[in-house]
Amino acid sequence: MIVMKFGGTSVEDSKAIARVASIVAGRRQQRPAVVVSAMGGVTDVLIAMAKGAAAGDLAGALKSLQAVQERHLKACEELRVPPQAVAKLHSLFDALEVVLRGIAALGELSPRTMDNVMSYGEICSSTLVTAAFNVLGLEAELVDSRECLITDSAFTRAAPNFEATNQHTQSKLMPLLARGCVPVMGGFIASNADGITTTLGRGGSDYSASIIGAALSADSIEIWTDVQGVMTTDPRLCPSAHKIDEMGFAEASELAYFGAKVLHPSTLIPAVKKNIPVYVLDSRHPEGKGTCIRARAPRSQTTFRAIAAKKNVTIINMKTARKPMAFSFLKALFEAFEHHSLSADLVSTSEASVSIALDSAGVVPQLVEQLKQLGDVEVEPTMAIVCLVGEDIKHMIGVAASVFSTISAAGININMISQGASEINISLVVEESEMAKAVQHLHARFFEEPGSPPDAAVASGGVVDQPQAALPEHKLASGAAAKARKN
Ligand code: ADP
Ligand code: ASP
Ligand code: MG
Repeated sequence: MIVMKFGGTSVEDSKAIARVASIVAGRRQQRPAVVVSAMGGVTDVLIAMAKGAAAGDLAGALKSLQAVQERHLKACEELRVPPQAVAKLHSLFDALEVVLRGIAALGELSPRTMDNVMSYGEICSSTLVTAAFNVLGLEAELVDSRECLITDSAFTRAAPNFEATNQHTQSKLMPLLARGCVPVMGGFIASNADGITTTLGRGGSDYSASIIGAALSADSIEIWTDVQGVMTTDPRLCPSAHKIDEMGFAEASELAYFGAKVLHPSTLIPAVKKNIPVYVLDSRHPEGKGTCIRARAPRSQTTFRAIAAKKNVTIINMKTARKPMAFSFLKALFEAFEHHSLSADLVSTSEASVSIALDSAGVVPQLVEQLKQLGDVEVEPTMAIVCLVGEDIKHMIGVAASVFSTISAAGININMISQGASEINISLVVEESEMAKAVQHLHARFFEEPGSPPDAAVASGGVVDQPQAALPEHKLASGAAAKARKN
């Protein structure tokens, strides 16, 4: 059997849903289970609605609700779904209205309530898609994902309990698959052990598909989206990006973690565990071969496989008067992060200072206050991480120098550098406003120039074209993390 996940743009309107039905019909022999996202843009609108209602703008929230409802009903009409499904959607939107009125009355919006509101996107889209499949001759049954995916209670970013999830998913889906019926589920949504709705974090439908695929030991997991496959970088940042045919799990995980929105950062974890290949495919051009992500992939023809980038990053610089830095200082520092349930994207250290790059959302005033007890704290917001990923770079000499010289030649300041412990990425932090430029220059250097590394000289440790002059003070030659100070 296979799992097929369709993202927001793939189910954005009646035309897109009809296309999805024909793609799924084409795979019937492989016994597909289908996972769908909310219709494109709906989750953003639901979040804005909830925040608006909490801030006192109930009228605005209800107006947006009306627009979302009309969008679903228009698709119902165009797809000629039967009245029962339309009535069900009406009752879902009525229930959402009650929730919004409650939020407005209390003037309060907890993460738990936010999950409740957001869940309507996937609940409604899966209801609509199931009805459309049946109208279009594809026998399908709606399965409530909240009865299959069981998580902890970390609302808005819940983590699955794989044991309970596997058991529930198998018992719900196996009988349907056995009789040739297509189960349709909403991605992103789940429930905790008490049956309260949770979500897996933004973009979490990819993760849902992979969790379900692993639970069912699927033959493959297909992520259908609005691009040809995984590209050498985000085509929105760099139109010359091109599709990658095959890549390894480790490379794809690193890319997803460092911002390639095409895959939720956790997507590959369940797939890797069960060694299930993941395909990224274009729902507008289903004839394409997409990208195959699996344990072993052929070597890349370029130095790097791809470049990822993400905004909303803050650097926290910590200094201690003690030299060399004591382990107790590092321990206290990381305990502060643990206390706020934060994880660091990049860490680099020198004799008496530590720099940590992390998602800006986590940098709350309480954290900064706690860190100030340990030493001098400097906070640099509005940063972005640019991450170059490639399995082969661990065998090459001079690659980092080439990256830094490219950035330096573009006149971009590097705020932090880290060569990942995994040895398959080189990451840098730049100002958010320079992110696109950095990605474009790096892409031009490593993916568009004929004869770019790896060439024989670089791979065998020969001369690098723009050597040391462009290197900031760093320790990359020894493979350790390094940091370039602002000049
Ligand atoms: P979906 O709604 O199908 O889940 P997303 O918007 O979440 O789609 O992810 C697809 C988008 O990811 C693409 O439109 C593209 O802009 C972005 N993206 C970022 N990095 C990459 C990359 N390396 N390859 C392909 N797409 C990427
Ligand atoms: N609808 C959710 C979101 O927009 C989940 C997803 O699309 O994967 O974040
Ligand atoms: Mg997505």
